[in-house]
Amino acid sequence: MSSTSYPLPSALAGLTVQTAGLPVAALQRMLLAEHERFRELHPRSVALAKQSREHWLGGVPLHWMQDWGTPEPLHMASAAGAMLTDVDGHTYADFCLGDTGAMFGHSPPPVVAALQAQVANGLTTMLPSAVAPEVGALLAARFGLPWWQVTMTASDANRCVLRWARAITGRQRVLVFDHCYHGQVEDAMVRLDADGEVANRPGLVGQAANLALHSGCIPFNDLPALEAALVTGEYACVLAEPVMTNCGMVLPAPGFHAALRELTRRYGTLLAIDETHTLSAALGGYTRSHGLEPDFFIAGKAVAGGFPCAVYGFTDAVRQAIEHVQAAKASGHSGMGTTLSANPLALAALRANLAEVMTAEAYEHMERLAERLEAGFMALIADYALPWHVSRVGMRLEVGFALHAPQNGAESVAAHSALLGDTLRLYLLNRGVLVTPFHLMMLTSPVTTEAAVDRLLALWREAVVALLGGDVAGHAAAVIDDVAGAGGAKEVRP
Ligand code: PMP
Repeated sequence: MSSTSYPLPSALAGLTVQTAGLPVAALQRMLLAEHERFRELHPRSVALAKQSREHWLGGVPLHWMQDWGTPEPLHMASAAGAMLTDVDGHTYADFCLGDTGAMFGHSPPPVVAALQAQVANGLTTMLPSAVAPEVGALLAARFGLPWWQVTMTASDANRCVLRWARAITGRQRVLVFDHCYHGQVEDAMVRLDADGEVANRPGLVGQAANLALHSGCIPFNDLPALEAALVTGEYACVLAEPVMTNCGMVLPAPGFHAALRELTRRYGTLLAIDETHTLSAALGGYTRSHGLEPDFFIAGKAVAGGFPCAVYGFTDAVRQAIEHVQAAKASGHSGMGTTLSANPLALAALRANLAEVMTAEAYEHMERLAERLEAGFMALIADYALPWHVSRVGMRLEVGFALHAPQNGAESVAAHSALLGDTLRLYLLNRGVLVTPFHLMMLTSPVTTEAAVDRLLALWREAVVALLGGDVAGHAAAVIDDVAGAGGAKEVRP
């Protein structure tokens, strides 16, 4: 199916229209009806939003909170396990899970108990707490790298890794993949522009420097481009998610990771694997489950059960190189570290999460439900001959609005449909199911139920049927004609 542009009513302005096999007029009608329904169902959220506009920029404490595609921000009252309750008393089966921070469920009981035990005994001291040795050992055992440091956020951890990599190699440039996201990390805020040149990412606010001076950017899965960049000998580090998860989902092609490792070694470039989102892949992350051998490993968000905390690990060779850097550098601030990092609450949460929540049994449950979700979506796609695909890595799953799974970030973004995404997300939200904003991904947690998965699938199907307006048979025939010869909807697995 090709992407088509349509004029939109003003309430729908700004949404790019790629309808991926569904009629645009029906989508527009549904979205407007769901806006109305949201306002009717959520009077308290609407009232709080009005009050919040008096002091919060854009009416929300973090501007991303406007990006759910709801007419007003949904205000939450509480979250527990895989359920969220809003201020109007509606409950939601949560497949967004704080977009990964709550991947192991909201407020996992062992993490809550650890925090409660610590909270009256000091919140922040700039000293290691007594559990520090145990947490170091847990990190090494869980993720396979011997040396560790703690930061507040994954953004911070990535920044530290890039600094160490530059210091160790004496090289200035870092290489990332087009359409990547690694948090609030300036070096990674580059894109390939229409001419294929590296440029500051569009939409970046207040970025005066030309980031292309120190950052390179190439398409994911493009080994010739990777070698052409690395052969220059200019790159300190490649920073990569093992599976791209922030521009839709892009899986690595067979052999990609082996080649990435081989080429980075050959040209003296360090390899940093950012597992902040791919802890969802398996116990120990994608690195452990796929035998990757990074120099640096980064994890944040869910690593301490949703408590603000992130970690980065590294090999013994990197530890030795860091110690050389430290011995040789002038005295003075390293430029890394923040006051609240590795505070006693963070260490307590890390210990509890690594030891008691992030278990093999938990991953088995999550994966089983993600498989159920995948099977349900594959059936939906087949039943209505939708030109969609499903990508899944462990318990993270995306329905992609293109026939075939994308090979790189640009292909993935081209398949995005803001109109379709916003409409489906709001349809689900108005009926008690939350999926992720920005890219319509879903995560299953250790406490997600089969009933919740089935409800999500039933609602998604209901929305598709409503959008097709009864012309299901005619639609299927048209789509089959349209994609004839293209191989049909394709299942994609890591
Ligand atoms: N790395 C990856 C892969 C991410 O997806 C994100 C956030 N989405 C980050 C780093 C940054 O995490 P934080 O916002 O917690 O700093």
